[in-house]
Amino acid sequence: MAELNRPDRRRCTRCGREDEWNESNHNWTIAGDEGRPFCLHEWNINGTHNPIVKPEG
Ligand SMILES: [Zn+2]
Repeated sequence: MAELNRPDRRRCTRCGREDEWNESNHNWTIAGDEGRPFCLHEWNINGTHNPIVKPEG
């Protein structure tokens, strides 16, 4: 059975801004001061992150 591997942190590949997943309000919160307010963020979990973890063996 596959397990959900939800990322709890994401980072913008353009400006370096980091977000943290907030469990209580189920939303991303800004983790750092880095980043530009008008950046069209390209999160490093987009496309490359595989949310499904296949069990080994
Ligand atoms: Zn950005």
